[in-house]
Amino acid sequence: MTHARLVEFPAGSVLGYPRIGPRRELKKALEAFWAGRSTADEVEAVAADLRRRTRTRLAELGLRTDVPAIPSAFSFYDHVLDASAVLGAVPARFADLQDERGGLDLAGYSTVARGRGDDLPLEMTKWFDTNYHYLVPEIGPETTFRYASDRPVREFAEALADGVLTRPVLVGPVTFLALAKATEGAPDDFSPIDRLADVAAVYAEVLADLAEAGATWVQLDEPALVSDSIEVPAERLYAAVVEAYKTLTAVPNRPAILVAAPYGDLGAALPVLAATDVEAIAIDLVKGSAPTELVPGLETKTLVGGVIDGHNIWRADLDAKLAILEQLEFLGAGGLRVGTSTSLFHVPHDTADEPQLDETLKSWLAFADQKVAEVVTLAEGLTEGREAIHEQLLAASDAVSSRRTAPGVVRPEVRERTAALTADAFNRGDWDTRKESQAARLDLPPLPTTTIGSFPQTPEIRKARAAFGKGELTAEQYEDEMKAEIRRVVELQEQIGLDVLVHGEPERNDMVQYFAENLDGFAVTQNGWVQSYGSRCTRPSILWGDVSRPAPITVAWAQYAQSLTEKPMKGMLTGPVTILAWSFVRDDQPLGETANQVGLALRDEINDLEAAGIAIIQVDEPALRELLPLRAEDHEAYLQWSVNSFRLATAGVRDDTQIHTHLCYSEFGQIMGAIDGLDADVTSIEAARSKMEILGDIAAEGYPRGIGPGVYDIHSPRVPSESEVTELLTEAVKALPVDQLWVNPDCGLKTRRYEEVSPSLEHILAATRTVRATL
Ligand code: GLN
Ligand code: ZN
Repeated sequence: MTHARLVEFPAGSVLGYPRIGPRRELKKALEAFWAGRSTADEVEAVAADLRRRTRTRLAELGLRTDVPAIPSAFSFYDHVLDASAVLGAVPARFADLQDERGGLDLAGYSTVARGRGDDLPLEMTKWFDTNYHYLVPEIGPETTFRYASDRPVREFAEALADGVLTRPVLVGPVTFLALAKATEGAPDDFSPIDRLADVAAVYAEVLADLAEAGATWVQLDEPALVSDSIEVPAERLYAAVVEAYKTLTAVPNRPAILVAAPYGDLGAALPVLAATDVEAIAIDLVKGSAPTELVPGLETKTLVGGVIDGHNIWRADLDAKLAILEQLEFLGAGGLRVGTSTSLFHVPHDTADEPQLDETLKSWLAFADQKVAEVVTLAEGLTEGREAIHEQLLAASDAVSSRRTAPGVVRPEVRERTAALTADAFNRGDWDTRKESQAARLDLPPLPTTTIGSFPQTPEIRKARAAFGKGELTAEQYEDEMKAEIRRVVELQEQIGLDVLVHGEPERNDMVQYFAENLDGFAVTQNGWVQSYGSRCTRPSILWGDVSRPAPITVAWAQYAQSLTEKPMKGMLTGPVTILAWSFVRDDQPLGETANQVGLALRDEINDLEAAGIAIIQVDEPALRELLPLRAEDHEAYLQWSVNSFRLATAGVRDDTQIHTHLCYSEFGQIMGAIDGLDADVTSIEAARSKMEILGDIAAEGYPRGIGPGVYDIHSPRVPSESEVTELLTEAVKALPVDQLWVNPDCGLKTRRYEEVSPSLEHILAATRTVRATL
């Protein structure tokens, strides 16, 4: 039984679209508002204009406007925060920002996202296996849920007034609670999912209101159903699906419901969803696979096959995609439609906006707008038959074969090197010997102090880089400016008394792009921005071909920096897994093969650094955890290739060369074994906020090598006091043998200002001296 008005789901649709704007218009508007340079109304006007332009563009590209093919999926900051705002579920510390209905205005919404004074913002964490970060809802037994904001309804109505029937998109109730964390005072046995009935009741009100406004379909995103990394056990999660969708499908006169499951395979959750009364299910057929058996209940539903990759930028082989869709026909679903695997907000807008990109490379790419066109084409193919899209099929397969055979994609000399690798290439000597020879060479005090690599990127540095980019500075002038900056950074570190120095990374625009620009097989974009969180965007590089290193990259900088000091200077590189994670990576071969190519290129660099006299080399892998597959059964294979590529990069050095790595987080639960597997001599991790908690686990594992738990939370402008750091270090020496411990901040300092960094480092040094005196 269904209460929904029966309206067909459009033949082709996308799950979402970039929301920051082709020229990052929303970013600029928000940042001006936060800086007090503009009003909320001005931001609203920019946002409304962006939404309108998005609708126009999507319609131009062929999505229908009379049936809800165009998603209404805008967000000022984050779609999970938006759900919190709709539900009025704001932590008590921000209750004063809510109006009498529980709603937030733009300033209040921004404050919940960004914090104020001692009121910490909502915690931010990675969204599934992407580089997007969402704001974690804080839910307790006391949280009041009420229909606090009708923004989704207003945005739907705005589009309708413009003549476009959109499909409002909300985070689904199950995923919302599955991603939430319990409020601090909540009892131990409380889980946010306990509040499902209350949350579903508000969603029911929203659906009714949307229907009232004229919405025929809504999309509820439930990616929690494709992941094993959710804290709620699967059984509980499935029970929640049954309960939530029972409530929602029972709403009288509601819109039809599409449940979307991006980022992976629904697995056992598919039959659970199919047994509910929702009208449609969108499955990810890029990361996930097509069901191979009949699924009871599916025969009455519309199935949206997400065959166009929303998470990567390669043009699709349309013929192959059509074949995948045709294979689904045996399922006997009530209707088969075409979609994207995920929202398109993980990819840039338009390849046409990249005049400097090589034309051949460009012909292999599909950014958001090209993907919309692919969906439209496939929808036509599915309804009208292959003949109707004959030309597009040909063009797509031409692009695919051009990519297969183009120079640079497969380079024999690179292939021969990876094929010839033996086990030796992945293994260093035993730890005890390394430990002894490194100690003899480096002669460091107990609790050696260091930093993670970058120093503040000052406006002067940015200006010089921009001027160099525009040709206003010669290479020589630019190099002189960077050298002057390195000199300043080295002097500062000497003054403060750090034991192991860094050059500060002023010459790097970004820790991945910098290497992409200096390695073969990569391209970089001009306008390829994607949202990372809030107003922050990154511009991932494109790894399109076989990777190698044409010439040394960092060696001259490291040598220069080392020439300025007697102390050891750390060489500083980004690791292979992180380079892959933060780029758009070729999808025509296993990631492990690509990772080994990058690993070998870095190995060349590391060996050259060693030959140039650099005794300590840090290879950052902050993204090691990010790429961890969502399904537990895939973890082992991932950890194997990722760890191997790091080992391949680092295992070519002598015993007395010390390899460091840095990971930006401290939740090691699922990857403790991998950290051991990296076999780095020293690993620095984030630990200040969690108060060194992780060290207990590390000790329990019997981890033998060096650990640098962060003692300074660099994500906050706060300067930690000397006594605070002393306390953290006292904890650390209680938890682990002193000869394993290093002292460092949580992460790089590039986003901080010198006014914060200098006193913080001074306090760290003073605290270290105090603790050393007690040893
Ligand atoms: N070496 C880098 C830096 O200090 C590491 C950054 C990171 O871990 N994200 O900036
Ligand atoms: Zn970090």
